[in-house]
Amino acid sequence: MNNKSPKHSKVLILGSGPAGYTAAIYAARAMLKPMLVHGTQPGGQLTTTTDVENYPGYSKVIQGPWLMEEMKSQAEAVGTEMIQDHINKIDLSKKPIVAYGDSGQNYTADALIIATGAQARWLNLKTEQDFRGFGVSACATCDGFFFKEKEVAVVGGGNAAVEEAIFLTKFASKVHLIHRRNELRAEKLLQEKLKANKKIEIIWDSAVEEVLGTNEPKGVNAIKIKNLKTNNISELKVDGLFIAIGHDPATSLFKNQLEMDKEGYLITKPDSTETNIPGVFAAGDVKDKKFRQAVTAAGMGCMAALETEKYLENVK
Ligand code: FAD
Ligand code: NAP
Repeated sequence: MNNKSPKHSKVLILGSGPAGYTAAIYAARAMLKPMLVHGTQPGGQLTTTTDVENYPGYSKVIQGPWLMEEMKSQAEAVGTEMIQDHINKIDLSKKPIVAYGDSGQNYTADALIIATGAQARWLNLKTEQDFRGFGVSACATCDGFFFKEKEVAVVGGGNAAVEEAIFLTKFASKVHLIHRRNELRAEKLLQEKLKANKKIEIIWDSAVEEVLGTNEPKGVNAIKIKNLKTNNISELKVDGLFIAIGHDPATSLFKNQLEMDKEGYLITKPDSTETNIPGVFAAGDVKDKKFRQAVTAAGMGCMAALETEKYLENVK
């Protein structure tokens, strides 16, 4: 039973990744006094990585967790109220919107910015998790650069895996694409590009069983692969393993309330962050399965805050 009275704000922001913090910076500077709910991963996905080399403004390599602390401090400094909670239910059917926190606190708001992000799917091997950030990655755009002239493997057979394998050939000396079937799911044009690339070798009907490496220095040096037809186990020497088996956007809260595509990504109007419900905006990986970068998420956070400001002016 919840006896606490709801906390109200003009704008409620869900998520503390680059999209949420940037939305907060802009909304706070527009004097909207936003409340931002962190969720169970304060700072978002970038807190799970080390080196970030592609966020503009820093000529030296910066650390993901540090960057997110800086964004948080900036959002706080301009007037965002930070809330340590996770929303488990939301009612978007009327205004004010009502969000229900795990803490027992409810939040009401005139407008909502959803920046709940997405999570990469993993194989869920213990050794894969042990080497995450130390040779195992789910983002070739982010980490490919660290594998210059090295051998890497990519797991998956969809468009993302094929694109990542092709992208990685810019750096790696060789790329092994490991797929669990003998046919790719990726579109034909991409398959042709893949097969024409001399640096790529496809390993069919196979699954990664184990990631092998050293602890000092921490890094991957091989993977164990099982042929799913013969059950034969082999070892492949690689320095990096990229998992590209899909992402899950954090949108279960909004099912049957907001329009989403078949994979659960929120749908927004063209060139806008507005969802099918006026006053409800979505920014970052939660609505973007194409770019999935900190800078694009931050850009959409900015758009969402500016659109929220306009929306609130018009409903006054
Ligand atoms: P996220 O960062 O995913 O944040 C989502 C937030 O929503 C979290 O704070 C979470 O707690 C919160 N949340 C979720 N559900 C709820 C809820 N119900 N209630 C309240 N809050 C909720 N990009 C780059 O540009 N450069 C890189 O070098 C780079 N490296 C990466 C390395 C790794 C290992 C990973 C996983 C990603 C990397 N990325 C990189 C991608 C980048 O991290 C994402 O594109 C970016 O973080 C997306 O930002 P976002 O704000 O949309 O969501
Ligand atoms: P996807 O299309 O769902 O493909 C996932 C791939 O990973 C499949 O080949 C699947 O194998 C494999 N897989 C899933 N779980 C696995 C596991 N546990 N172990 C091993 N392999 C596993 O995902 P995606 O490639 O990330 O693409 C997501 C969406 O974005 C798609 O709609 C895609 O078209 C789109 N996208 C488009 C582009 C583009 O247009 N250029 C680029 C990237 C992504 P099976 O095939 O056996 O199921």
